[in-house]
Amino acid sequence: MRIITLSNGKTVEVECLSCALTSGVIEPDGGVVIETEHFHAHQDVAYPIRGLIILASKRHIKCFDELTEAEKVDYMNLLSRIRKAQREVLGIESVYYFYNEDTTHHFHTWMVPRYEWMYDFGRSVESLRPVLLHARNNMNNKENLKDVMSAIEALTEELNEK
Ligand SMILES: [Zn+2]
Repeated sequence: MRIITLSNGKTVEVECLSCALTSGVIEPDGGVVIETEHFHAHQDVAYPIRGLIILASKRHIKCFDELTEAEKVDYMNLLSRIRKAQREVLGIESVYYFYNEDTTHHFHTWMVPRYEWMYDFGRSVESLRPVLLHARNNMNNKENLKDVMSAIEALTEELNEK
């Protein structure tokens, strides 16, 4: 078991943070952006960047090659739908995607929007870590959090429209 401190200061003891989030044991700030049979999308609350979405599988798996056929289809569809919503609702022109298999969480893909201010931290992937740290350490202010929350709302509305 691991003890995780949430953004609201509470601590929870979980086996796997992704399991806790996708099963609803932990409610992410801003709530669920979209949920399907196999996947769950939410804002990464540790890093207050507008439109930064985490797409996590509901099954506790680690690697890409563990996905079933149905999960693969669901994943691709959802990833591209979220991407489209980021573009159309938030005007995001570029997104960085990454996921790593040696994680303590389970299978989840980060969709990190690229903003102008990020170029101060480097041109490409090398800027990613400094960008995330900058966001966590310097962007936890009321104004930015409001912006992050409104982006979550906009994405949620767009993606759950019938
Ligand atoms: Zn898990």
